[in-house]
Amino acid sequence: MVDQLIRATAADGGIRAVGVITTRLTQEARNRHKLSYVATAALGRTMAAGLLLASSMKRPESRVNIRVNGNGPLGGILIDAGLDGTVRGYVDHPEVELPPNAKGKLDVGGAVGAEGYLYVVRDVGYGYPYSSTVELVTGEIGDDIAHYLVASEQTPSAVVLGVFVGAEGVTSAGGILLQVMPKASHDEALVETLESRVAALAGFTPLLQANLTLPAIFEQLLGDMGLELLSETQLVRFHCGCSFDRVLGALRMLGEEELQDMIEKDNGAEATCHFCGEVYQASSDHLAQLIVDLQSAKSGG
Ligand code: ZN
Repeated sequence: MVDQLIRATAADGGIRAVGVITTRLTQEARNRHKLSYVATAALGRTMAAGLLLASSMKRPESRVNIRVNGNGPLGGILIDAGLDGTVRGYVDHPEVELPPNAKGKLDVGGAVGAEGYLYVVRDVGYGYPYSSTVELVTGEIGDDIAHYLVASEQTPSAVVLGVFVGAEGVTSAGGILLQVMPKASHDEALVETLESRVAALAGFTPLLQANLTLPAIFEQLLGDMGLELLSETQLVRFHCGCSFDRVLGALRMLGEEELQDMIEKDNGAEATCHFCGEVYQASSDHLAQLIVDLQSAKSGG
């Protein structure tokens, strides 16, 4: 199944459901950052969560940044996801590996740490991003995101995220977000029904591993509650907006003296993009051209 995002509603619009498959983009992140098994699961879950959160935004350029700062050995996680279906991200210590947890699963909570903070920044496209912070609950990411949605956005929500990594790489990844919409949030029976359904899910990966499609999973969860699948499927992918031009722009900001120094000492400059791992090499000629640009800008202005 290609990476994709599907939206649905149920209970006459009282429930909003979004599902995302992120198997390929999680593998791409694993390759780009040389992620360990547990780092793949941690970053993969956070990227899936970012796409799910971004999916409810309105303006096409809207983006969500999620930063997870736990006290575990993985360090911080940062992802950037857009309503346009693009996502990128990294972890501070991609090489950290931990033995499986008591359930025999990748120990994401142990790697991230259960103490720390989850920061969510929503940029709605008007230039005034708004952010909120909640304490981590378990560091397993799914619980933490659900807690954020309830605490910060007052929306009863369930989030199920899963990444399965075997010796051959990422074989399945994705997530589901179920939310009780404001008009139905006083309906306690509905909230309870939803909670029990989600609890019965027992994790998302077994469903993905069983090759169930997102519509089939929604059918299983909400089929008897007036499920309506929105027809359009959105493709999602790993994408970083970095470019050689942007790297040159950043180098130009360093100023003439520093650039001259780089030419003499390093015979050029190398820059690595945190988000995607791309390495950019600027030669001495590039740097010399930047100095010429700076000088002509100075004499011209
Ligand atoms: Zn990049």
